[in-house]
Amino acid sequence: MTETLLINGEWRASADGADLPVTNPANGEEIARISQATTADVGAALEAASNAFPAWAGLSARERARIMHEAMDIFRRDLDAATRALTREHGKPLNDSIKECSYSADVIDFYAEEGRRLDGTHFAGDIGPTHSFVLKQPVGVVAAITPWNFPVDLLAWKLGPGLAAGCTFVIKPPSEAPLAATLFVKAFVEAGIPPGVVNIVTGPGRTAGAELVTNPLSRKIAFTGSTATGLWIAEQAARQLKAVTLELGGSAPFVVCDDADLDIAVPEALRRAFSHTGQICISVNRIFVQRGIYDEFAARFTDAAAHLRVTADGLAEPDADMGPMINEAGLETVRQHVADAVERGAQVATGGKSPDGPQFARGFFYLPTVLTGVEREMRVMREETFGPVAPIARFDTLEEGIAMANDTPYGLAAYVYTNDLNRAFYAARHLRAGGVGINVNDVTDIRGPFGGMKQSGVGRELGQPGMDSYMEVKHVRYRYRSPRP
Ligand code: NAD
Repeated sequence: MTETLLINGEWRASADGADLPVTNPANGEEIARISQATTADVGAALEAASNAFPAWAGLSARERARIMHEAMDIFRRDLDAATRALTREHGKPLNDSIKECSYSADVIDFYAEEGRRLDGTHFAGDIGPTHSFVLKQPVGVVAAITPWNFPVDLLAWKLGPGLAAGCTFVIKPPSEAPLAATLFVKAFVEAGIPPGVVNIVTGPGRTAGAELVTNPLSRKIAFTGSTATGLWIAEQAARQLKAVTLELGGSAPFVVCDDADLDIAVPEALRRAFSHTGQICISVNRIFVQRGIYDEFAARFTDAAAHLRVTADGLAEPDADMGPMINEAGLETVRQHVADAVERGAQVATGGKSPDGPQFARGFFYLPTVLTGVEREMRVMREETFGPVAPIARFDTLEEGIAMANDTPYGLAAYVYTNDLNRAFYAARHLRAGGVGINVNDVTDIRGPFGGMKQSGVGRELGQPGMDSYMEVKHVRYRYRSPRP
């Protein structure tokens, strides 16, 4: 019997015993099975989180922080098991799994202390002898729903601020990659977090996930995933006016001006386009290069992409550049987007197919692919490919480059490479994205807000906004009188 549900501190199988396989996308091997939570299981988990909420919210921030730090000491002690599980379920090279899990522990430690620094404000009233306090209080039970591409990290971004604020959780990890995330939560259990504060329901999004969203017991939905699912969640949450944080899809542009240092811009574009096999919400999806350096950039980028190392065994080759895609559907999207671009006149500068060799035969592999001669109507330029494909287009003026970069329904991350301060600030102001990297290919920093504009989402994670989104503000106003003599 598969016991992957954590409800009120107990590991259980689903009420009807149904389960699902978890497979290694590099070779199709079944590595585990997870329970498929029923509606009743999800209800029980929400009930447990609801019952645990008053006591957890009532603990001092110092005591919550103690448990959170203790959990991360345990997680770091057992890091090897989690990182190996992550590489097997996701396919990413081991070094990428180590980076993800280590960062996740840092996020929890950071927010444990942020919780201790929380304060409210107070002020003397404007009218009459009154005084006001503004308190911040936890929103209540949170449903945290996460995708497979960073199943530990994106959970930490929710659990860290939420637990520190005093919220309790029901987590639905992705069915494709639930194992490392479950080990992450196990560390909290081992650290003595009270039963019911953190619960896990595994199973399909359309059943377990949907029940978490629609059941009145969840008061906030913290979701990272596709825009299509996010839109559905937003509609459901609106019916009950639940709080939401939605971190959705992206189509990040990488704008290279003619004064940029190509020794930096080329490797940085390469890493952000192809690491995690292009399956990152802030992956570089579209590269725009100013005319004067287009040929040199395209040649160097293509050559470097052709030399990236794809591994069929991320445990044996921990420092490889990329592994497989997560599943057949993802691979099919990539194939369709490349075929569409070629049909409409694009050229495949490198890649454009799956790698040869028996080691790749049973996995979802696709070579790092560079497309030139691309046009705005092509699917690679309009949709989220979420795979190892980098189309390169050229622009003349920076205004034109930014207009091309903004020509997308998404607005999560954007990058610009230039050594001209005026161009850098102009781009930072005019790129329509929640995060802009100037000469840096990552917009993630624990202390800074992360999130999207347009169809890339609502709300922010990380930084202070990431903490505020787990709290309600309450204005307490009181009238006082002079004491009687
Ligand atoms: P997905 O939307 O298919 O699934 C995400 C999670 O939602 C999974 O756990 C899934 O089981 C669950 N789910 C599916 N349908 C649901 C429903 N009706 N109700 C409740 N839960 C449901 O996304 P995915 O394919 O797993 O992830 C890839 C997507 O995530 C990409 O679009 C990527 O850009 C996005 N993403 C965004 C960010 C960000 O921070 N903005 C980060 C990582 C990934």
